[in-house]
Amino acid sequence: MVGGHPILDFVNTLDWRFRLSGAEELIKDYGDLLRFTAQCGLLNRSEVSRIRANGSPGTAQQVLTASRRLRETLATILYDILDLQSPAAAAVSALHAYVASAQREQELGRQENRLVWMWSPKSTHAMELPLWKLSVEAVALLTSNHMSTLKACSNQECRWLFLDISKNRSRRWCDMKLCGNRLKAKRFREKKE
Ligand SMILES: [Zn+2]
Repeated sequence: MVGGHPILDFVNTLDWRFRLSGAEELIKDYGDLLRFTAQCGLLNRSEVSRIRANGSPGTAQQVLTASRRLRETLATILYDILDLQSPAAAAVSALHAYVASAQREQELGRQENRLVWMWSPKSTHAMELPLWKLSVEAVALLTSNHMSTLKACSNQECRWLFLDISKNRSRRWCDMKLCGNRLKAKRFREKKE
């Protein structure tokens, strides 16, 4: 979890996305999707156990496929933005469809002195809940001021996404140990040759 935002960590779960020898899938099954969304705080414990109790293998596979499609839609939009291109129209309308179906599961509730969007009671044990929450969270990020700090790791085979909240906006790597040192070592070797 290096992205500083659940959605960036989600996109990073297709590891080595730009590696010539191929990417590595970190969300291998529905259980991984559930663990990931719980780890980044989008699902709480009781939601996870209710979903586990109500799940069916067929739905799990459908939700897994849809979630990976959402992730790749987000990757298209985010890397287009980083590459200073207008995000692909097909990806934007695909994202709109995801968030529209997620919002159908929300209702307005009261909280002290204001109203809040809440998940409908029946949605909180649906297997689709991780997908719905990721969809809503994605649009919240993409329409927020956080986007001005969006960056990708300088290792061209990695390009993991993160929000650069360092003081002088100088962060270059997903992780200094993972990519920073590896690339430094490579440059060092090249210099010697
Ligand atoms: Zn990296």
